[in-house]
Amino acid sequence: MGRRRCYEGKFYLARSPYGGLGLYAAVPFGRGAFVIEYTGERISNAEADRRGGRYLFEVDERWTIDGRGRGNLARYINHSCRPNCVAEVVEGRIFLFAKRAIAAGEELTYDYGEEYLSDPATMPNGCHCEVCDPEGFARALESLGRRENRLPL
Ligand SMILES: [Zn+2]
Repeated sequence: MGRRRCYEGKFYLARSPYGGLGLYAAVPFGRGAFVIEYTGERISNAEADRRGGRYLFEVDERWTIDGRGRGNLARYINHSCRPNCVAEVVEGRIFLFAKRAIAAGEELTYDYGEEYLSDPATMPNGCHCEVCDPEGFARALESLGRRENRLPL
């Protein structure tokens, strides 16, 4: 396999069993370690409602980060109901931390939350993660030639 392009010395982009591309760890992360910031344009929640889209991350009752920009690598992180990362809002910024130890090669995931999952605009076909649709997820892994959701590094 050719060398993958490594981002920030810590991440790879590759096809994901959740669909499309996913962000993968190029290095291990210890439990609780900082992984990546979810960056983007800071807009009001009213503006977020006007814009819509998949990359809106609500920070609090007033503000949302619109993470659609190309510089936001974290926008490639897929949702899982059994995620290995957790998002925390600190002073209006969104940081993702390792929820458990993460091995190099594992795809990174976090829980997008109830609002995202219950909205047909963002999740039209429901959740197809390893918890909600284990058979479908296993088939998706198989189609990528993987037994587990981890890149051969
Ligand atoms: Zn799920």
